[in-house]
Amino acid sequence: MICSNLSVNPQGHLCINGADTVALAKQYGTPLYIMDEDRIRENCRTYLTAMKEAFGDTACPLYASKAASFRQIYRIMKEEGMGVDVVSSGEVYTAHSVGFPMEKAYFHSNNKTDADISYAMDCGIGYFVADNYEELDAVERIAAEKGLRQKVLLRLTPGIDPHTYAAVATGKVDSKFGSAIETGQAEAITAYALRLSHVELMGFHCHVGSQVFDSDVFLRASEIMLEFIAHIKAVYGYTAPELDLGGGYGVRYLASHPEIDIAANIREVAAAMKEKCAALGLELPAVRMEPGRSIVADAGLTVYTAGTVKRIPGYKNYVSVDGGMTDNPRFALYGSPYTVLLANRASEDYEKDGETFTCSVVGRCCESGDILQENVILPANVTRGDLVAVLTTGAYNYAMSSNYNRIPKPPVVMVKDGESYVAVKRETPEDVCRNDL
Ligand SMILES: *Cc1c(COP(=O)(O)O)cnc(C)c1O
Repeated sequence: MICSNLSVNPQGHLCINGADTVALAKQYGTPLYIMDEDRIRENCRTYLTAMKEAFGDTACPLYASKAASFRQIYRIMKEEGMGVDVVSSGEVYTAHSVGFPMEKAYFHSNNKTDADISYAMDCGIGYFVADNYEELDAVERIAAEKGLRQKVLLRLTPGIDPHTYAAVATGKVDSKFGSAIETGQAEAITAYALRLSHVELMGFHCHVGSQVFDSDVFLRASEIMLEFIAHIKAVYGYTAPELDLGGGYGVRYLASHPEIDIAANIREVAAAMKEKCAALGLELPAVRMEPGRSIVADAGLTVYTAGTVKRIPGYKNYVSVDGGMTDNPRFALYGSPYTVLLANRASEDYEKDGETFTCSVVGRCCESGDILQENVILPANVTRGDLVAVLTTGAYNYAMSSNYNRIPKPPVVMVKDGESYVAVKRETPEDVCRNDL
């Protein structure tokens, strides 16, 4: 299987972390998000251990919680000693409501409202990652009103194209995020931030992109950022205590995607940064990284029940499932690849097993673009009632889900030590109507 937490039991059922997904589908219904709590914790520990060993005790990974945001996730992050990124008042609220230590929360977004800034300060947010002058001015003004001095990182764009999908590349000069080093705008906004009395500039942030597989991107980004820090020190006498390198390590959606050794990658980046710091006469700053997808993606999968099986001879075949773009809009948005198989007849290679059927797996929405995946190979006798599993859906699935067509959202069921529990309840039609007058 593409993820080591997946297996097939003697009945031919797909299992995650030892739990039978067919039994879980029977117990909780479909569509169903299943997440492996132990895998989430393991992924956190990979970053925590590697970063502390490579960069020293001041280093800390921040879970980019937009990837999967609900109360239990923040409880897990608190227990593991992770920091978190948040990007809205809703994420601040969710984290704060379960007692997440907010001094370890970093508030991103290219357009925070005054209400967001004020609310986050009231919750004791640790940092704003400021994107622009308007935000710096708002933080200065609101912090003054509240009589506090607010820690801030400045988001910069190091001018790197990470060779990933255009929609998820954010580190280029023409990005909507941050201030470009190349154009002199990064230096100008730094000088500006240093003059504000209620803003405590703590350093710099960059995020180059997502679904990145080579350490090359982090090596180049950290080199450019350290050179910038050295330049600012030389000109303004200010040494940035923190450097946040962003997130972006990729995950395996398909067996053809590479497996990344994250710990080895971090060691390589740390070695290069230490060398660069020595050459520039800098002390190594406190390093942050912001993994989102690589913390939760391979911890999750989605199980659906197959309904209509439509064959259009000479054209195309369809298998319709009881979910779709409402619980996973990523194929519709970016054409994201996924591995799809039958949970009740699990196999990595149906062609080896017998006659097959190539189809588009589609959802139940009134929208032709409601496609989960194309060119999926399933057994030729796939039929209504089979359970369809889409793998590696722990990141950006529940988080991006909607109620289009008034479809209630599926529950999130967690598996820990082979036992399951509900982390997010299934929505009801009543839930979907709750704000209607
Ligand atoms: C989305 C995002 C992340 C996480 O990216 P992944 O690809 O999920 O690791 C981290 N930092 C920032 C600023 C982001 O926008």
